[in-house]
Amino acid sequence: MASLDDNGYAATRAAMVEGQLVRRGLRDPLVLEAMRRVPRHYFVPPESQAYAYDDYPLPIGEEQTISQPYIVALMTEELGLTGGERVLEIGTGSGYQTAVLAEIAGHVYTVELLPSLAEEARRTLEALGYDNISYRIGDGWEGWSEHAPYDAIMATAAPLELPEPLVEQLATGRRLVLPLGEIEQDLVQVTKDESGCLSKRVLTPVRFVPLRRSTERED
Ligand code: SAH
Repeated sequence: MASLDDNGYAATRAAMVEGQLVRRGLRDPLVLEAMRRVPRHYFVPPESQAYAYDDYPLPIGEEQTISQPYIVALMTEELGLTGGERVLEIGTGSGYQTAVLAEIAGHVYTVELLPSLAEEARRTLEALGYDNISYRIGDGWEGWSEHAPYDAIMATAAPLELPEPLVEQLATGRRLVLPLGEIEQDLVQVTKDESGCLSKRVLTPVRFVPLRRSTERED
């Protein structure tokens, strides 16, 4: 996959993996290889392309952002994927994180609230040849129950509390990774053990856009 002309960005990407990910302690070979492969510059607006591999988030329109490469890789690593899993992602955004997941997982189910972002992400991912992704426009708080249970779940927008439907749709023994909170947010890994009990581990402070509810009023 990820087969379009790379415009000479492969070396920049390799340097990003070494300088931003390996240097900060990320080690999972599947994640590092995925980060080496996915052409991040296709997922940012044309005027930001030159900065696509820099060490920070970038705007993608509609007041949303594509996460910093390190955070994308960290969240993926914390899911503990070994290949072939069925993964639910909430907050498709640019589709970049979706692509990283699709490099490793068997199938990715991705949900985005804003139709314009969802459609643009789908165009990019299809042009790059990813054929193991299902797309849904809707409120990710509800998850995507038709395809549950999932082997891993990730949200890239922050709710104030853990959405109960996501917990329900996670298979036992599996992990959910998401930002939680309002101004002060933490990246949290939630593991559902074989008896259905949850354990939470706080990974690092983060700043994500809020997980909006489809019933919220714009005012
Ligand atoms: N993972 C993305 C970053 C997304 S930013 C990337 O790699 O580019 C967070 C995204 O979550 C935004 O696109 C926002 O529109 C979306 N979002 C916010 N609330 C949501 C909700 N309730 N359901 C689904 N998506 C939501």
